[in-house]
Amino acid sequence: MHEMSITMSVIEICEGHAQGRRVTDVVLEIGALSGVVPDSIEFCFEACSKGTLLEGARLQIEIIPGIGNCVACAKHQPMSSLFDPCPDCGAFGLEIVSGQEQRVRELELE
Ligand SMILES: [Zn+2]
Repeated sequence: MHEMSITMSVIEICEGHAQGRRVTDVVLEIGALSGVVPDSIEFCFEACSKGTLLEGARLQIEIIPGIGNCVACAKHQPMSSLFDPCPDCGAFGLEIVSGQEQRVRELELE
C-alpha cells in the first residue's frame, strides 16, 4: 500500500528529529493531488507508530488544495484531479503549482 510506505517514512523523519524524545503531535501536509488518502495515513500511523517515539502522538493532516497554472491563459486555477483541464479555456496540461505535497510540517516533542 502506497500510504504504508509514506507513513513509514514520516515516522522515520520524525524519529530522526526527535532524537530520543517522545513525539506528542505531528502535523502533515497532504496535497489534494498527491493521490494519498488521508484516512489511510491515519490508519497506518496508528499501526506503524506502535513501539516508536511516535506511539500515542496526535496526528493532524492538513489538505493542501490543488492549484494549476494554465499556460494558455496565464492564470492559476483550482484543480481537483491531476488531469483537470483549465476551467476558463479548457486547455489540458496545467502545470501543477500546489497540491502534490506530502510532508511533515510540524513536530511537537515532549
Ligand atoms: Zn486556461
